[in-house]
Amino acid sequence: MPVLRIWPRVSDTIDAILGAPSPMRTDLDFDRDGKQIGELQLPHSPHEDAWGVIPLPVAVLRNGAGPTALLVGGVHGDEYEGPIALSELVRRLDPKQIRGRLIVLPALNAPAVRVGRRTSPIDNLNLARAFPGDPHGTPTRQIAHYVARELLPRADFVLDLHAGGSSMEIMTVALLGHHGDPDIAARNEAAMRSFGAPLALAGTPGGGRTLIAAAARQDKICFAVELGCAGRVSPTALATARSGLAGFLAHAGIMSGEATPYTGPLWRIAGHDAFVYAPAAGVFEPIRALGEDVAAGEPAGCIHDLSQPARAPTQISFRRGGLMLARRAPGIVARGNCLAVVTAQVISV
Ligand SMILES: [Zn+2]
Repeated sequence: MPVLRIWPRVSDTIDAILGAPSPMRTDLDFDRDGKQIGELQLPHSPHEDAWGVIPLPVAVLRNGAGPTALLVGGVHGDEYEGPIALSELVRRLDPKQIRGRLIVLPALNAPAVRVGRRTSPIDNLNLARAFPGDPHGTPTRQIAHYVARELLPRADFVLDLHAGGSSMEIMTVALLGHHGDPDIAARNEAAMRSFGAPLALAGTPGGGRTLIAAAARQDKICFAVELGCAGRVSPTALATARSGLAGFLAHAGIMSGEATPYTGPLWRIAGHDAFVYAPAAGVFEPIRALGEDVAAGEPAGCIHDLSQPARAPTQISFRRGGLMLARRAPGIVARGNCLAVVTAQVISV
């Protein structure tokens, strides 16, 4: 009996989106041996430039047959360790040092990277909430679509390098996306561990709209890493990025060398009450530091109303106990801002 479908399934919609060609172009040949450094060009026609393009930096390093790794930084423009480490890698590597291919996008949402902001100044969109994108959409949606349609199918491994950005302090942590196939899930976990980040979390924020979610839908071996935080460059996190890239590319069989994998447990953000949100506007005074163990009901800090000195600060408590994974970086907060992410629990060893 035929099934009457009154609304397309998500998978049908994604197939239709990825079936449409991208308006973006590049002069680089993804199948040529050697090192090519150039740009992806996104046609853009604002008031100032009728027939212009937005250039996005890209490099392709290839040395014969072998696996392909897609290495991405700059999905958010205020997260710097990934772009720095990936640009170094592109400059330093001789293609003869690799087997297979690297496709490197060190500053993927280039308009956001140019201004050091999480979102694009052109369309105000967050690229990590834009997948699978739209070839007829705004620039950020077109970038997501190009990656999902043209680059992910060429990749065996996908690594998405992030940091806490301007608004958040976060522990350096590798993030493992969900995959329903146990074999692929195990390979994802092995790849993630090979990076050697000091902490590993099962689950990624952003639902199905992230690059890693798009990669998982195409059964790519993929994970993300959160490096530094608060819109700064962290030398410690940059060192982790450099060693992590070397370990991961050795694990992938693209470079020689040995990984120093993370061997600890996987952690998980256990529920919505893991997040502490601001109940009032003001200035947040945190109490607990990243990496500390906190208990449900314990004070997380308070919010001061600096315009009313006679008013007592609003006290904030943790709703769930666990590891203090992240907290807000700027002092000033609006109602609903995320103040802390505390609950992470061991789910396997
Ligand atoms: Zn990010």
